[in-house]
Amino acid sequence: MSITTTLQHEQAASLRGACPDGVHLPGDEGYDAARLPWNVALDQRPAAVATPRTVPEVQAVVRRAVAAGLRVAPQSTGHNAGPLVAQGLDDVVVVRTSAMTGVSIDAQRRVARVEGGALWLHATEPAGDHGLAALHGSSPDVGIAGYSLGGGIGWYARKLGLATNSLLAVELVTADGEHVRADATENADLFWALRGGGGSFGVVTALEFRLYDIATAYAGMLVWDIAQAEPALRRWVEWAAAAPDEVTTAFRILNLPPLPDIPAPLRGRSVVVVDGAVLADDQQAEAILADLRGLAPEMDTFGRVPARSLVRLHMDPEGPTPAVSDSTMLGSLPGEGIDAFLTEVGPGSSSSLLLAELRQLGGALGRDHEGGGALKRLDGAYLAFGAAIAATPEMGAQGEHDAQRLTKALSPWANGRRYLNFAENAVDPKSGYDERAWLQLKGIRSAVDPHGTFVGNHRIPRLVENQRVTD
Ligand SMILES: Cc1cc2nc3c(=O)[nH]c(=O)nc-3n(C[C@H](O)[C@H](O)[C@H](O)COP(=O)(O)OP(=O)(O)OC[C@H]3O[C@@H](n4cnc5c(N)ncnc54)[C@H](O)[C@@H]3O)c2cc1C
Repeated sequence: MSITTTLQHEQAASLRGACPDGVHLPGDEGYDAARLPWNVALDQRPAAVATPRTVPEVQAVVRRAVAAGLRVAPQSTGHNAGPLVAQGLDDVVVVRTSAMTGVSIDAQRRVARVEGGALWLHATEPAGDHGLAALHGSSPDVGIAGYSLGGGIGWYARKLGLATNSLLAVELVTADGEHVRADATENADLFWALRGGGGSFGVVTALEFRLYDIATAYAGMLVWDIAQAEPALRRWVEWAAAAPDEVTTAFRILNLPPLPDIPAPLRGRSVVVVDGAVLADDQQAEAILADLRGLAPEMDTFGRVPARSLVRLHMDPEGPTPAVSDSTMLGSLPGEGIDAFLTEVGPGSSSSLLLAELRQLGGALGRDHEGGGALKRLDGAYLAFGAAIAATPEMGAQGEHDAQRLTKALSPWANGRRYLNFAENAVDPKSGYDERAWLQLKGIRSAVDPHGTFVGNHRIPRLVENQRVTD
């Protein structure tokens, strides 16, 4: 251990007792298990990991960390730990909210209240019991906190916008150890910043958000062999640009491994999948999807399903997963862009990517959300994303290379903006916001966290002069 890390170890030792059994330091028996993020390809090595169970425990951890001269990184699952790990965590206490998963549903008011470590599955099930749906994303075990603070694109996004703009209140422990509520009337500036500004403002202990009267949706997937990638992509791009707001879909090329838990018809194959949801009656939904179905998919599961089932529609991996990825926002995808995408990941490309994905944006996502927060809309027609399984360092290096090749090939159509929830590597967080929002976010961070206590994965810097680069 170097002199610096010995010092930091001594400082971190003062956290012991802040939450019973919930503080782990390097060298402790539980440290390696506690520091593991969802993305297990990452080597997350903070000065300490604290796993509080209650708000007073979160307050005690923050107060003791500040007193010891350490910084604090809130984390609920570690789905997007890459940009955090890249900042260096020698003087950072990771506060895992994973033990705080309580959920209550107020069906009358159509409002969910969840604790700061709840996963989407914890909320979609009880909401579904009341015929209600939240603006969850494609993965059941993504944390509601990180997803919602960073934006949140789900299957209703083109109709109802980003999940962050359906937040009604956020409760958090700030740098002075106080527990505050931020909503439209109380700490309204902070509430604005939290809606899209991420985890740079405090440890979120609870969120309240709007639920929608969506008991069922017309949803499913269309599957073609990879040999059909070109006609399927050309048709989807043309269709997506003209589609009504009621439909939100994703186009993917999947290179599926021959694993037993993958359904037999898809196991070990490269396929094209278009999946998504339509918020319309069956007749309207069938009319909306007719053009895509006209391409004779070999599998078509679209039909009326309970809304609660949509959280698993995309078949995202659940549980710890080693992954590498890259993403980019596209302003458009003309014919040459389609060619570039297919050259990288289409038939014969021998790409190592598990998936190459285009999410359909536009609709409500592309319009300013009235009364919304720091991320009022997403500029772009498509969000492109390539990801690979990194079971070994060699697979990780190859996957990273191929994901970056994909985004580079698409760069002529990139609009220069980033959707930070999909940015799993260190990027300039400024690219996630328009200039005015960026300036305002920095001002609010300076006011709420004047000494730079919190470390967001995508960091909002303070406005102060001579600041350290990492705060
Ligand atoms: C398999 C998979 C599927 C996904 N699907 C979608 C999707 O459909 N739509 C979409 O928009 N995004 C999606 N994402 C991206 C996802 O929204 C981001 O990875 C998000 O940051 C995950 O939040 P988390 O809390 O689970 O992760 P974490 O890594 O725990 O959190 C990310 C950051 O959020 C902040 N944060 C988290 N918890 C707290 C807290 N309690 N208090 C304060 N700050 C906190 C911190 O800054 C933290 O570094 C997906 C990601 C994966 C890996």
